[in-house]
Amino acid sequence: MEKSCYSLAPMAPMGTPTAQPPVVVINSNDTLLGPVPQRMQCKYCQMIMETSIKKRVTRYTHFFALAFCLTGLLCLVPLPYCLKSCQSLDHYCTSCNQFLGKAAN
Ligand SMILES: [Zn+2]
Repeated sequence: MEKSCYSLAPMAPMGTPTAQPPVVVINSNDTLLGPVPQRMQCKYCQMIMETSIKKRVTRYTHFFALAFCLTGLLCLVPLPYCLKSCQSLDHYCTSCNQFLGKAAN
């Protein structure tokens, strides 16, 4: 009596890796915050609070200032630093100070 010990059914690999990235929580409210403090629940500390807003200059702020410099409009250089539309408004949690999102300009 001989035993045939070969198996004809190799296991199909389960859960083949695909091109999907690992699960990331989508921050859908990243750019949907308004230009005024928002009452919302912090996603970090779960506190319901009103966000605090901090103005932040962006690379565009410096870009416009530099552009005014190069075109000889030196008196307009401070303008981008005063205009809201040239700056970014960031919302922070008043409880844990975590960054919650940007205001849509
Ligand atoms: Zn918080």
